[in-house]
Amino acid sequence: MTFRHLIQELEQWAPPALQESYDNSGLMVGEAATLCTGALLTLDITEAIIQEAEDRGCNLILAHHPIWFQPRKRLNGEDLVSRCILMAARKNIGLYSIHTNLDNVQHGVNKVIADRLGLKQVKILDPKSGLIGKLVVYVPETHREVVLSALFEAGAGNIGKYQDCSFQVSGTGTFRPLAEANPYIGISGRLESVSETQIEVIFPIWAKNKILQAMYGAHPYEEVAYQVFKTENSISEYGAGMIGTLDTAIPKQEFLQLVRNAFQTGNIRYADKTGDSVQKIAICGGSGSFLISRAMQMGADALVTADVTYHKFFEGEGKMMILDIGHYESEQFTPWLIHEYLSEKFPNFALHLSKIRTNPVQYF
Ligand SMILES: [Zn+2]
Repeated sequence: MTFRHLIQELEQWAPPALQESYDNSGLMVGEAATLCTGALLTLDITEAIIQEAEDRGCNLILAHHPIWFQPRKRLNGEDLVSRCILMAARKNIGLYSIHTNLDNVQHGVNKVIADRLGLKQVKILDPKSGLIGKLVVYVPETHREVVLSALFEAGAGNIGKYQDCSFQVSGTGTFRPLAEANPYIGISGRLESVSETQIEVIFPIWAKNKILQAMYGAHPYEEVAYQVFKTENSISEYGAGMIGTLDTAIPKQEFLQLVRNAFQTGNIRYADKTGDSVQKIAICGGSGSFLISRAMQMGADALVTADVTYHKFFEGEGKMMILDIGHYESEQFTPWLIHEYLSEKFPNFALHLSKIRTNPVQYF
């Protein structure tokens, strides 16, 4: 088992194309071909975590938070981040991070939060746009089925809870093979017309190469006529935050207690709302105040998130509760989630949950 095996499996779940522009998810230190002796799962990377990895025989750290975001000019050990990078490199320990790409999938960071609060009918709060491509390809009737199956197999044609979605229309294709051509149908120099089907399918943009490969593999023509478009559609399976409902409306005090128990925190900062109860709950692990207006638009009674600044609390306008439960607290179950996912894929592999609580924030 190499780093690459683990990474490929993780990125099947949370494709890197889903990370935000400011992010730095992926393998930050180390070489993908390295044999993995064990992986340590953590929310953050610190010197203590790197030491723990070495002590427990792990040469790879799988973290949620990247250890650095911005390009760096120096690794001189004079700051915490460069010390960690140097320490990891010296000990031959790889650093990998699965960050906003895991925030933006349906079964990621926010699903754990939803489950802990017992939310039902959970869906993405703010679906992402610009992630969907569309392929239009012209296929001779004889090869319609085989090309279509190959495209579906490669991941095209999924819309929400539906798969194998396509649009097809029959028509006539024409072409004249030149002298140097080696046509599947037709003779050099003669104009051919062939009954063809125009197939349209959508696909996630990160699967584009795979989809085109599948198309070329199944299509009989020497030159395949096709077009690829980028759409502006949003996609319900990917995006920021989630929203769901509690089984019944509950009093606000009871809700605060529920959140406190679910996240084992004694420190919830919150803005109140008018009315006695809550039922529709929006959530976002980590810094989620950018979702306040979206949550209100979706009719949430409360938004549970972290890193809410003073002025942001006003934006609930007394119509929606805004709860800041702490960044670490909101995402503390993420390493468990990664552990659960990977141990199902690799049941006999040495995966270890860190024993260190990396939260730098103390409460007095
Ligand atoms: Zn975070």
